[in-house]
Amino acid sequence: MSQHHHDHDHHHDHAHGHHHGHAHSPPQPDDKVHSYYQILGVALKELLIEKGVVTADEVRAAIEARDMTTPAHGAKVVARAWVDPAFRERLMSDANAAVAELGFPMNTTELVALENTDEVHNVVVCTLCSCYPRELLGLPPSWYKSRAYRARIVREPREVLAEFGTMVPDSMELRVHDSTADLRYLVVPQRPIGAESLSEDELAALVTRDAMIGVATVRR
Ligand code: FE
Repeated sequence: MSQHHHDHDHHHDHAHGHHHGHAHSPPQPDDKVHSYYQILGVALKELLIEKGVVTADEVRAAIEARDMTTPAHGAKVVARAWVDPAFRERLMSDANAAVAELGFPMNTTELVALENTDEVHNVVVCTLCSCYPRELLGLPPSWYKSRAYRARIVREPREVLAEFGTMVPDSMELRVHDSTADLRYLVVPQRPIGAESLSEDELAALVTRDAMIGVATVRR
């Protein structure tokens, strides 16, 4: 936890703004006051471009790539783990290598897969800010970043999960995992009962973002 750095949420807000006065950028209604970190981010980006470290197109392409990363990537990983026991083992022992096999490399952070079973239910939070496996699942939902979720999922996890409609009986162990800047989690939900005849793609379509955070289960 001591190495926990702020996970920047601010990139997207200022990157397509009108700060640079480009003639092709239509003026947008924007009465937001920019925060210290937003201003810092814009200044840093402009300096890196001015010094030739990155180009504006590279910044744009990086944002575009991030925006095209969706929970569907994680869902493919989960579905593969459900149908391929050898892949499941690799995912549990070295998640970074396993997701890279499927074409979703996590280059900047360690990934750990958490398997839900009949005995154990896992749920993920970042108590300090909003650390999330963005390289695999895209941007986190807004509630994940909320103060209420971050505080309450630790204090009263069963109550919070019940508010999401997920009942975890007292007989089951409930593990809450705190993400950090260096370590992210992917919950591998239980394969739904009665889904034996479904193909891998059909299974992947059932796997939701919330199930991979651990606030929901997967149902047919
Ligand atoms: Fe964080």
